[in-house]
Amino acid sequence: MGETRKYKVTILSRSFSACSNEPLELLNRYFEVNLQRNDLPEDTRRIARLIGDSDGIITGSDVVDRYVMDHCPNLKMISKHGVGLDSIDLELAKERGIKVTTTPNANNESVADLTLLLMLNILRQLRRNEIHCDTPDWTSKSLANDLYEKTVALIGFGNIGQAVAHRLQGFSCKLLIYDPCVEPGAFAQEDAVACSFEEALRHADIISLHLPLTEKTQKMINRDTISLMKPEAVLINTSRGGIVDEDALYEALVSRRIRAAGLDVYAQEPPVGNRLLVLDNVVATPHIATHTQESNYRMGVAAARNLIDFFSAYEKERN
Ligand code: NAD
Repeated sequence: MGETRKYKVTILSRSFSACSNEPLELLNRYFEVNLQRNDLPEDTRRIARLIGDSDGIITGSDVVDRYVMDHCPNLKMISKHGVGLDSIDLELAKERGIKVTTTPNANNESVADLTLLLMLNILRQLRRNEIHCDTPDWTSKSLANDLYEKTVALIGFGNIGQAVAHRLQGFSCKLLIYDPCVEPGAFAQEDAVACSFEEALRHADIISLHLPLTEKTQKMINRDTISLMKPEAVLINTSRGGIVDEDALYEALVSRRIRAAGLDVYAQEPPVGNRLLVLDNVVATPHIATHTQESNYRMGVAAARNLIDFFSAYEKERN
């Protein structure tokens, strides 16, 4: 195990080990650590420079593409601090024999909590009521809605989708589940039904996205698919901004074609100048779904362990 010390690991993630030193100490025990927290996740030249001759990296949303791989010849492992892999060229990594890992299950519960927070915030008109609180005319005139017994479409039913489903069962919600890995009709119980994408959009009061951004899922929520939604529908996106055509969503929200949106993620981040952010029927958070101490600790330890396991096995294989 001690032999792994000769490997160099660069930390690009801004939030790795933010709430406790333990993940960083773990890495320090096994590797030469190069701490280079990167504030410019799309600047590939800078990323390549920061990685240099490292053998492994811990990434946040940093882009690792052909340019980076071409300029970092020693790179053997990419340990993602999180789960979404859309910023990494996975095919090229595979071709070059670079191992890519994630921290599944480390942040499901935190993302699910934020998803529920966005739903409840919109249904109970939290923003509007907060504004009125310190005015003489302080009692809200408009009636809000319950989450209780609403129909919620979960698009993507992996770790996070299931954690959201678990919470919504406590609100007696009816769940419409669309996921290509779940056969329509695979399970049909009173409170959860697997169905087609179109059926889920047509019948839901709330549509919540929990799927990866890929070529297939890019702009999956667009003019056509929004046109299937109910006028009172609420869209929640805590997965990736690119899954939604933001121009189509903007038009739908301005024209009240749908009721509201709760967003944690955006096509371009940071979303400076994004028109969606000024709408009164949008509740927005700055990609903070995993920003809890608990998630940060679990992701940090898991990302460090992935590197230790990989380089221990790599070292054994070479001897
Ligand atoms: P997961 O891999 O456990 O589940 C993803 C599910 O999506 C899988 O069951 C898969 O079959 C399904 N899926 C794939 N293509 C689909 C499609 N076209 N339509 C419907 N479903 C499809 O992943 P997870 O841990 O549940 O995370 C889901 C996504 O959430 C991640 O890919 C990531 O982009 C995003 N995420 C965002 C944050 C945040 O900070 N806001 C944090 C963690 C994850």
